[in-house]
Amino acid sequence: MKILVINAGSSSLKYQLVEMANESVIAKGLCERIGLDGKIVHQVGEKKIKYDVPFPTHQQAFEELVKALTTGDDAVLSDMGEISAVGHRVVQGSDRFSDSALITEEMLKILESFNDLAPLHNPANIMAIRACMKVFDAGVPQVAVFDTAFHSSIPEKAFIYPIPYEMYEKHRIRRYGFHGTSHRYVSARVAELMGKPETELKIITCHLGNGSSVAAIDGGKSVDTTMGLTPLEGLGMGTRCGSIDPSIVTFLMDKEGLDTKGISDLMNKKSGYLGISGLTNDLRDLQEAADGGHKRAALALDILGYQLLKYIGSYAAAMGGVDVVVFTGGIGENSSGTRSKACAGLGFIGLTIDEEINKGVFSREVDITTPESKVKVWVVPTNEELVIARDTKEVAKLK
Ligand code: AMP
Repeated sequence: MKILVINAGSSSLKYQLVEMANESVIAKGLCERIGLDGKIVHQVGEKKIKYDVPFPTHQQAFEELVKALTTGDDAVLSDMGEISAVGHRVVQGSDRFSDSALITEEMLKILESFNDLAPLHNPANIMAIRACMKVFDAGVPQVAVFDTAFHSSIPEKAFIYPIPYEMYEKHRIRRYGFHGTSHRYVSARVAELMGKPETELKIITCHLGNGSSVAAIDGGKSVDTTMGLTPLEGLGMGTRCGSIDPSIVTFLMDKEGLDTKGISDLMNKKSGYLGISGLTNDLRDLQEAADGGHKRAALALDILGYQLLKYIGSYAAAMGGVDVVVFTGGIGENSSGTRSKACAGLGFIGLTIDEEINKGVFSREVDITTPESKVKVWVVPTNEELVIARDTKEVAKLK
């Protein structure tokens, strides 16, 4: 049985074709610059095929990915009928969807009503789903897997903001949390790796990539997370400011003459590592600059490490302890410097990493603590696509 996994943005579309019999990836790829010109990178095994092809819309990008899967020397399907179901990553499911679900016209209408809650992501997700439904036969089940769903177990005291309660009732303003599929995958996986039931573990997962969030997972359930109403809260990120004093917003609007779009751009696109360093949003480049003596690049790295340390400490307190911390995402999986800074001050909770092991770990499953460390720290590469494929199989009731 083959399942196609789709992760769409406003101008890009990532796909992965998964063989469910052994959960292996048959082919994957990325359509970029949708609506601009169009570029596709299609990968089968180790072979990468890149070409430019115009796709003015998501629908044309889907048609192109169908061609890439079914035609030419690198075809992996004889026809699209071999695909049993399609799973879509959807960023915002609000508190309406606490589990993955079959996509219907009624669901799409409900999702459209959440567009204000995730204006950068949800409209693109919905547009891509509609385009996909046009390209695929109506009989092929399409399933939505929500970034927010795993965090639906967060208790009220952690999801209600201290603003007038009516704002929650009227506008659904609350913490939703994101990256749920990744936090769910790595927390379940680390329990497996440690040979312990997840129900008996207190886990802190750090998903650190272009977007970053930390989650507290107690007995397999998310009990708190750093992202909030939108993916802007929490850690400073590549270009996002994360949590700041809310008064800075009105202060800067006033002093810099910014309207709501202007301040939103400043916080979403010009802040974070880019804003602090004045150089780059890419952590690899930031590290290189810091190693070369760039002070503000080094400051950006110090801030990230310090914020992580504080979140890990506070989530350990929130859960009354912690058994294991997990690092994942492009930065979490690869940046030993970030892991080292985040853990450096945590000896007092019984957490000590082995710096020699830490230095050599890039995107593989490894315990990086010393044998004596009571709290364990693991690097676990995330696999959101696999979770989406598994959920799609289950929701679509495929055997
Ligand atoms: P993601 O959004 O998960 O793809 O993560 C992207 C981020 O991971 C970027 O900031 C990259 O610079 C960072 N990254 C990827 N590889 C490395 C590496 N080897 N060392 C440090 N950072 C890395």
